[in-house]
Parts: sequence; C-alpha cells; structure tokens
Amino acid sequence: MSKLWFETALLPSGWAGRVRLGVEDGRISELATDVDPGPDDTRGGVALPGLPNVHSHAFQRGMAGLTEYRGDAQDDFWSWRALMYRFLDRLTPDDVHAISAQAFAEMLEGGFTRVGEFHYLHHDLAGAAYANLGEMADQIAAAAAETGIGLTLLPVYYRQSNFGGAPALPGQRRFLNDPDRFARLVEASRRAIAALPDANLGVAPHSLRAVTPQDLAQIAPLAAGGPIHIHAAEQTKEVDDCLAWCGRRPVEWLLDEAGVDARWCLVHATHLTAAETTGLAASGAVAGLCPITEANLGDGVFPAEAYLGARGAMAVGTDSNVLIDAAQELRALEYAQRLTRRARNVLSTPDQTSTGRRLLDAALAGGARALGQAHTGLELGASADIVELNPDDLSLVGRSNDKLLDGWIFASGARAIGRVWRRGKLVALHGRHVDAERIGAAYRQALERLLA
Ligand code: ZN
Repeated sequence: MSKLWFETALLPSGWAGRVRLGVEDGRISELATDVDPGPDDTRGGVALPGLPNVHSHAFQRGMAGLTEYRGDAQDDFWSWRALMYRFLDRLTPDDVHAISAQAFAEMLEGGFTRVGEFHYLHHDLAGAAYANLGEMADQIAAAAAETGIGLTLLPVYYRQSNFGGAPALPGQRRFLNDPDRFARLVEASRRAIAALPDANLGVAPHSLRAVTPQDLAQIAPLAAGGPIHIHAAEQTKEVDDCLAWCGRRPVEWLLDEAGVDARWCLVHATHLTAAETTGLAASGAVAGLCPITEANLGDGVFPAEAYLGARGAMAVGTDSNVLIDAAQELRALEYAQRLTRRARNVLSTPDQTSTGRRLLDAALAGGARALGQAHTGLELGASADIVELNPDDLSLVGRSNDKLLDGWIFASGARAIGRVWRRGKLVALHGRHVDAERIGAAYRQALERLLA
C-alpha cells in the first residue's frame, strides 16, 4: 500500500488538516485526519479531488486555434463546424491516438482526472467501417492507458443531418451507423476499454438533429445502466428547427418523450425556458456545461443561477478542447453570469459564500453522476484521483481552505497545480505530465503532417 500525506485536503465532509491516505489497488483504503506523516509517506500541499471532464471530443484539440479568423460573412457555430469537418476528413487512427493522448495529458495537467469522451469519429476516410468496428475506440482507450486518465467512453450514434430524417451530409460519413451496427459498435467499444482498470461505458445519441425518435428509443437501452449523453439546445437555430419539426423545443421534447432521469447528461442545454430549467433540474439529469467552448462558438449563456437555484445538477466539460483547464472552465461559467447579470458572485449562495467552492462542489457531484461514478470526492473506496495545489504559488499565498479554491479558480488556473495522481499513481509533476515529452513529440509529428 502506498501512503500520501497532505497538509490540507478537501474531503466530502469539508476541509481537513494533516490528512493521510492509504492507496491500495488504485483506491483509497485508509483515510485519517490530524495525523503526522509516516517516514515513507509522499508529502503534499493542498489535495483536491480530481475534476470529471464530462464532455470531450479529443481529436478537436488538433484544430484548437485554427478557426479564430474571420471567414464567412456570418462566422458562427455552423461555419466552425464546416472547418471541423474538413480537419477530421484527414484523420487516421494513428492521428486520433496521438491527438487524444496529448489532449488527455493536458486534461491531467489542468485538473481533470476522468474524461467522458463523446466519440463520434468511427469510420475510415471514405466512411466505410474499419475491419474492427471499434478501431477508433481502441485508439482512444490506448491514449487513456498511456496518459493514465480515467475514461468513460461514450460511443455516439449519428444517422441524419437534421430533424425529420434529413439525409446525412458528405462531411458526416465517418460518424454514421444504423441501430444494428451501432449495437455491434457498442460491444466493440466495451472490448476496447476492457483492459483499462476503471473505465466504463455509456452511449451518446448525438442530438435530436442527428437521431430520430425511433432510433433514440432503440439505442438508449444499449447504455445498460451506464450514462446516456446527448447534445441539446446548444444553438438557437437548433431550437428553431426543433420547433418547426415537432412544435416543441429540444429539452422540452426530451423531458416529455425520452424518459430523461439521473442517468442522462444533457450537454450544453444552453437555451432553456423557465419551465425547461425547472423541469431539467427536477429530472435529476446533469447539465453538461462547456463554458469555454460555448463562449468560443458564440452559443449563448446557460441560465445557471436559476438552474442551480432549482437544485439542478451540473458538470463541466472541455468539449472542443480549444483550451484545457478545469479552473478556467469554472471561472468562465461564473463570468458569463456576471456579464449578463451585471453582478458579482452570482453562483454563490448565503449558505455557500465562496463562489469557487460552490462551483467545484457542483461540478464534482454532477460530474460523478454524469460519468457513472459512485464517489464524488476523496473518501474510502474512491479512486485516488488527486490534484495538488501548490501552496507556494503566488496566487495562493496566505490563503487557506475555500480561499485557496477562489485563488486557484479566479486568480491562476493550471499554473497553481503541482502534482496530479490518478489511482494513486503520479501522472503530473510541476504541472506537467510525466510523459509529456514523448506524447508531445508524437502529437507534433501528427499535426505537422495533417497541417502540411
Ligand atoms: Zn460536443
């Protein structure tokens, strides 16, 4: 058994001092507070539970920053998507492996210890299935194994280009399946993660744009107790198209027709009416918010104050991976609220006055639920996934407890992260992945070829 000792740790019960954790088989098997370190203990500063990243398309890390110039008269989500389709038109399994490993390494460096990979790039360059249907799933699993990140693999079902059965576009050929082949793909995905110590599987109907109600009813049960993730109401055009199709809005339709409950994660859910906001909160589903990507794509602002006020569950995701940093996601969420409300500390409450703590607690609880994890923090039986803040970082000087979180989230970010452990194993040191050089070299090689 290995032992880790921290000056301070954030436990589910709150802050504790002089905390000693015993780790066995990747899990916390002993936990004591107010104790001295043993002679062989690894000693650390401030221990936080690693944050779940509930929504990623890892390959998109490779195009980060490439779409930040003015193109069409109206640059928006849809023109960004056209560029994204052109990029993925060239990706081989080796490219997906290299880019995913880089993205996952950066997630660990940035405070995320588990990722929900919303995986839709299934087929070869021509759109034909690989001989091994789970070829791309294997690459993602290999990248997770290589970096050490926890993986919740969410194979995506995609069939049509818009509401009402509009045929898929040529740029979507690598995503497409029918329900029968998708069932086989889910099984191949299950095999892909079988060797990863605590990986799990869910399913992801891409969106109501891409999936018919009949197909949704057929594929949701394939989650077999795992999470069900779907993009919903990210764009106002999507809401308008949904209204034109069925007279209801996407989240309204899902709440009415799809049996949305605590197994579900509605990714974005940006555009909600008051009734949808309270309905989604009451359903027990998690709103998977991706504030940096939503800002980057000009999606809109999620009604977080009303939703959290209605006791809705939320989590954060890095989605397009344009920038990977857990603290910055939480900060962006609060800042969008401040800008629209023209107020400060919008998401804290009279009971939980630290905005950083409120955001972190919410993202830990919702993130665990959305990724099918039983534990939300550093407690007995939980995976020993630990992010250490370096108390010597100048943004944290003189701070303790929740003020450390506010300092990390609002005044520094990944810079304040020292070491990161996954399943009790060191994966990042001085804020850098232990294998960053090799992973970065493979990424560089893939990108130089792709962008040549
Ligand atoms: Zn997405």
